[in-house]
Amino acid sequence: MPTCVECGAHVSNLFTEYSPGNIRLTHCKTCKSTADKYVEHDFIIIFVDMLLHKPQVYRHLLCNRPEGIGGGTRTWDIHPNIKKLAVLLVLFEVYIKWYRLESNAIAQQQSVFLTQSIVYQYLYILLFCAYEFTVFQVAVRWAVYWFVDPRTGRGEDKHPAPSTAVSSHPTSISYPQVTTALIISSFGKMLPILMVIWDYNEQSYAWLISLVVLTSNAEALAAFLRTSYLKTYTLLSISLAVKIACEFIFLKATGNKDLTSLLVGL
Ligand SMILES: [Zn+2]
Repeated sequence: MPTCVECGAHVSNLFTEYSPGNIRLTHCKTCKSTADKYVEHDFIIIFVDMLLHKPQVYRHLLCNRPEGIGGGTRTWDIHPNIKKLAVLLVLFEVYIKWYRLESNAIAQQQSVFLTQSIVYQYLYILLFCAYEFTVFQVAVRWAVYWFVDPRTGRGEDKHPAPSTAVSSHPTSISYPQVTTALIISSFGKMLPILMVIWDYNEQSYAWLISLVVLTSNAEALAAFLRTSYLKTYTLLSISLAVKIACEFIFLKATGNKDLTSLLVGL
């Protein structure tokens, strides 16, 4: 159902079309604002607002765009374009991790891994990144189920964020949309492409990219789940801890424990 991006209340429609190209945007009865101003905005404005961490833009993408609806009730029923973006994110992560390994002089001298063939190295890091991505998605879904889902009885939030104060918690949670929220808000992982165009020292900016991705993930989840920032960061922190523990187990089980400091991270 269409949602007001300002307060999260449901609205009957986002606009009324009087004639082709002549539309009037709906005003929300709850907060009296325009229900979804992004209907008339192009992609550049939407992307800039994503960079600025505006919760309204995530409500627009997750609730009011066909690709954000997610469709049916199956666990991994996600729009094909979002799946393609997920594949791209994993491939960018492979690039970042491999670059980090190859540019680290100590790893170059000591790691047996870097003496293996290029194909083996690529497939290993690809498997590691796909595993890391899946573990994080499952961990966030588990944390959302445990801490937010009203069916578990722990969905009541006593300290909602100010911007969401007028809206209530969703009565049920669409888990495909939780995954969609995480994927679209991880766009920051693609920023290293700029390093290919301009010659920056990537190592210096890796922490900044991780920070942008983490805060974007939190903003998207808080906007979609209508949870406070405290609760959102708590469930993301738990999920990251699970992810890092599983990464450590993966490296130990495959005999590459010496790569822990370079491959394990946010
Ligand atoms: Zn509203």
